Amino acid sequence: METNHELILTVVKKVLSEMIEEKIVQAEGPTGIFETVDQAVENAVAAQKRLLALPLRHRDKIIAAIRQAALDHNETISALAVKESGLGRYEDKLRENILCATKTPGTEDIEPRAYSGDDGLTLIEYAPRGVIGSLTPITNPTGTVINNAISMVAAGNAVVFNPHPTARETSIKTIRILHEAIVRAGGPPGLISSVPKPDLTTAKQLIEHPKINMLVATGGRPVVDVVLRSGKKAIGAGAGNPPVLVDETANIRRAAASIIDGASINNNIFCTCEKEVIVVSAVADALISFMMETGKAYLLTPAQAEQVIKLIVTPEGKINTAYIGKDVQVILKEIGINVGEECRLAIFEAEKNHPLVWLEQMMPVMPIVRVRDVSEGIDFAVQVEQGNRHTAIMHSNHVEHMTAFARAVQTTIFVKNGPSYAGIGLGGEGHTSFTIAGPTGEGLTSARTFTRIRRCTLVDAFRII
Ligand code: NAD
Repeated sequence: METNHELILTVVKKVLSEMIEEKIVQAEGPTGIFETVDQAVENAVAAQKRLLALPLRHRDKIIAAIRQAALDHNETISALAVKESGLGRYEDKLRENILCATKTPGTEDIEPRAYSGDDGLTLIEYAPRGVIGSLTPITNPTGTVINNAISMVAAGNAVVFNPHPTARETSIKTIRILHEAIVRAGGPPGLISSVPKPDLTTAKQLIEHPKINMLVATGGRPVVDVVLRSGKKAIGAGAGNPPVLVDETANIRRAAASIIDGASINNNIFCTCEKEVIVVSAVADALISFMMETGKAYLLTPAQAEQVIKLIVTPEGKINTAYIGKDVQVILKEIGINVGEECRLAIFEAEKNHPLVWLEQMMPVMPIVRVRDVSEGIDFAVQVEQGNRHTAIMHSNHVEHMTAFARAVQTTIFVKNGPSYAGIGLGGEGHTSFTIAGPTGEGLTSARTFTRIRRCTLVDAFRII
């Protein structure tokens, strides 16, 4: 009798504790923001299993809901990103988010492949990794979250984000919005998640968590190195210093307009933005005058350029972070120059060893370096790219020149005769990505990047020919 009583008590206690646990998960889960990294990861493990149990059709519905939510809340998150981080331009953030919501591939990217022949049929399928830990940058707190969420979930994964602390509010808000859309579309709570105060401590916890199956770092070289040392499968999307090379065969007017548009989008904070112009001497004057004709550039005199450089480069030779992503008006005002709203970029002529040629400035101040001919230009552009293998741009109508530069520079993205952002699908063909994996070689990441490739072979059957 007593034994029965004890047994009933034990069962009741167990059921009660499970109910309480479920309640806690429900109370914290619906926002996608969990108190600790451990809670976020544990919930992500469960959510990923539930995602896999859903039909692919349902996953498509979830992806469509993520896209729509990003578009519906674009104004709010774009304004918040500029306000909180102090970087970029509102109208360009809007473009960034539309691009990520509409041109990040969904489940079509993981369509299976098949080999069919005399020996039967072999199927290749793209399986999820499980739970991914994603470290996101201050420069694109909304775009990276939208882009990663679509790619990673389309591939059947859950993702725990650890955003940059300086863009915490924006990133968390974006994650909440997308999470709510997922749950409304019948997706599992906790499929995408984060913690209320992401920082380097939570980043370390995420990187070391035994239930994180893959790490993705979008940021500078140091964080890429950290995830590569983790012992886990890691994808690194690192820094760039994209050169734009203009030769004597280019359509110079078009080159001038493209460079201004590409270099000034979001005040130069995209990792893909043109960071220095290298131009063949014969067309340098024309290029500068066409840039001025657009009405969007301000040409600094040598003395003014020196003043600006003192402001934006520290005595230690580093970029002064106070001016990263600021409007050109803000930077020029500091040295007493007032320019109108239409101005987007300050330009100046520089020697080859100028610090701004070698540093990733991420602000709308652009050095222009003259070279004797295209072959000197190619050699120099390869040097200033510094082996990042990120992005390079060329304006030319000479096929051999373009081929020679593309071969020499070996960048992940190579844009010809357009602004740099054409290479991430904005006004150029192809999908977009805000995690461009140069160091680890996956290129413009998409759903397929976040999968394991599996093969299933049926011998001597199922070939229908
Ligand atoms: P960052 O490297 O400072 O930070 C990126 C992320 O890594 C943040 O979440 C940060 O908290 C985290 N982090 C930084 N150091 C870490 C460490 N030691 N351990 C664990 N986590 C760490 O970069 P940022 O300033 O946010 O972004 C700008 C940089 O990112 C630029 O260099 C830019 O070129 C690059 N970027 C690259 C891509 C790409 O797709 N290749 C995209 C956007 C930005």
